[in-house]
Amino acid sequence: MGTPVNIIVGSQVWLEDPDEAWVDGEVTGIKGADVTVATTNGKTVVASLASIYPKDTEAPPAGVDDMTKLAYLHEPGVLHNLACRYSLNEIYTYTGNILIAVNPFQRLPHLYDVHMMEQYKGATFGELSPHLFAIADSCYRAMINEHGSQSILVSGESGAGKTETTKMLMRYLAFMGGRSGTEGRTVEQQVLESNPVLEAFGNAKTVKNNNSSRFGKFVEIQFDKYGKISGAAVRTYLLERSRVCQVSDPERNYHCFYMLCSAPPEDVKRFKVGDPRSFHYLNQTSCYEVANVDDAREYLETRNAMDIVGISQEEQDAIFRVVAAILHLGNINFSKGKEIDSSRLRDEKSINHLKTVAELLMCDEKLLEDSLCQRVIVTPDGNITKPLDPDSALQSRDALAKTVYSRLFDWIVDKINNSIGQDPDAISIIGVLDIYGFESFKVNSFEQLCINMTNEKLQQHFNQHVFKMEQEEYTRDEIDWSYVEFVDNQDVLDLIEKKPGGIIALLDEACMFPKSTHETFAQKMYQTYKSHKRFSKPKLARTAFTINHYAGDVTYQADYFLDKNKDYVVAEHQALLNSSRCSFVANLFPPLPEESSKQSKFSSIGTRFKQQLQALMETLSTTEPHYIRCVKPNTVLKPGIFENDNVLNQLRCGGVLEAIRISCAGYPTKRTFDEFIDRFGVLAPELVDSSDEKTACAAICDKMGLKGYQIGKTKVFLRAGQMAELDARRAEVL
Ligand code: ADP
Ligand code: MG
Repeated sequence: MGTPVNIIVGSQVWLEDPDEAWVDGEVTGIKGADVTVATTNGKTVVASLASIYPKDTEAPPAGVDDMTKLAYLHEPGVLHNLACRYSLNEIYTYTGNILIAVNPFQRLPHLYDVHMMEQYKGATFGELSPHLFAIADSCYRAMINEHGSQSILVSGESGAGKTETTKMLMRYLAFMGGRSGTEGRTVEQQVLESNPVLEAFGNAKTVKNNNSSRFGKFVEIQFDKYGKISGAAVRTYLLERSRVCQVSDPERNYHCFYMLCSAPPEDVKRFKVGDPRSFHYLNQTSCYEVANVDDAREYLETRNAMDIVGISQEEQDAIFRVVAAILHLGNINFSKGKEIDSSRLRDEKSINHLKTVAELLMCDEKLLEDSLCQRVIVTPDGNITKPLDPDSALQSRDALAKTVYSRLFDWIVDKINNSIGQDPDAISIIGVLDIYGFESFKVNSFEQLCINMTNEKLQQHFNQHVFKMEQEEYTRDEIDWSYVEFVDNQDVLDLIEKKPGGIIALLDEACMFPKSTHETFAQKMYQTYKSHKRFSKPKLARTAFTINHYAGDVTYQADYFLDKNKDYVVAEHQALLNSSRCSFVANLFPPLPEESSKQSKFSSIGTRFKQQLQALMETLSTTEPHYIRCVKPNTVLKPGIFENDNVLNQLRCGGVLEAIRISCAGYPTKRTFDEFIDRFGVLAPELVDSSDEKTACAAICDKMGLKGYQIGKTKVFLRAGQMAELDARRAEVL
């Protein structure tokens, strides 16, 4: 990104720093390729000329509201600009059309009130301070004026502010497209109230975020020919199921469990719940409360939101009965039975919990017990009943809990969609995507692979768009842009999702072959991809593999891939729940088609997710995209703290640096003739007076010996580093 040019003693520069990522300072000496710098954090450092960047001494101290206005578009400049603005509570900054939003971790007064919405309504983009309302407004207007569908893609790591951003975007769109003055439940009200319902069942407190969404979401808002909201659809992706049965400090299970335990006494009694500390699925961690969250109030608010989205009282009761049943299910324990490798309920307590589960789910007690403790095996000679040992029974219990919960979540999503209703005559849509960003942890598993595959796909979409926008600007100003070149990530996508031959396809094959283990699966990958540029096998690894993603290397542990990819409902569980006397529960488990009901048939989570993603990309491709990149400024979730390293990494993962790189490959600095002469007229005063602006600009560039710059219809387009070169010459003159 730009080459250090014309660095002299006295130059202000940026250099890398182990603590702050980048630090600024003044050059105090130069010897060959070594530069000595006195840094503003009080050190004297010798660095190589190639590793330092010039600092723009003319940059306004409050920062610029669009990164593309930075004279020097490089990493430290971008970072410094965001930090300056953040310290002034300016959390929004553009990079061209991309909005960067840095989480303030505090409610900023008036930032999202109706008055603010009024201001952004119809305002020219870029006229007011950067804001998510400006993005929403330009989206809405583009839809009205061009009748084209739009999408807003919100991304960022957990806790960066995606969901809050999404909610505000939806509020703005409801404000613009709502039918004010209409009595009763309006579509837009239902759309907005779908958020708290989904959050109650799909969000949880995690290390990274007290209200972390454990699913991805695409909300499609439909508009009629008058620009009014006429329908909406919510699609969700990959709900984290393991959380239902397994949580560790300092995290919590899904919010709805705690809400129900804090419900008014009559509901606590009716649903047979009580202290969350008495339930195994909740007491594996010592965290029961979330700062500033009142579960009792949330319970009532969730109920209220459920009313608005059209979930009836009876349905709500059934939902909470299922939630309660899951809690009791988790308290059923097993011990060794009389026969070898068999199990039975451990004690009186377990028997009671089993009774309660049966009551809540309205199913047969004995059938429930059998479905937990035995399996029926179909053989050519008839069915054989095989007991499960206590460990397997426990697994069977957890599998049942997870299946029931995920079906419940899907039911809620379907219900919301049916109740809000789809408008088959919609003229256009605005879609809002709130989906997990790139993940790279100490240990990465199947979930991370799916999430990172999503991000690779979105990244490709993003790059293509940024590239296209950049080219459009060049075309508009009629300059030549024949250099066209940018690195695509199609090779990583092929590695993961190509059929046949990709990792997901290999995984499906392994899942269908009864003898495979995670080790044979890993061996197969090592063999198949041994010469793939994006794939590598860590030294001594037996099941681990590394993928070189656009955002960096991620090493995955293949150990649980086979299990995690298998999505089947145990036939006994299916039969049990389908026989429930409660139609709600029975409907969560509709009978399977004849041939597949005999055996628990394998269906692939990876492949299904890949197909969902494909469908999402198809929808997105019919829309004009708008991007919001959320950034989490620190890991302590506190206001006012800006951690350089952390932010830089997110800008990298969110493709912001990539967008900058793409633009640097062309003409990163654009200045109108006017601006250019203002700044550089001093370099050739004789030329400025004697010719028109356009000619003068070209003449200045030539006089300074610049190569490869372009003069457009309205602007000068400079290559990376040329602005710094001109500034250095200017400093000599002044
Ligand atoms: P993500 O969906 O990216 O994981 P969230 O949207 O849930 O993150 O945001 C995490 C938390 O950060 C929120 O619960 C809220 O406390 C805070 N937050 C996020 N965005 C804002 C904002 N614009 N203003 C104030 N607080 C915010
Ligand atoms: Mg979220």
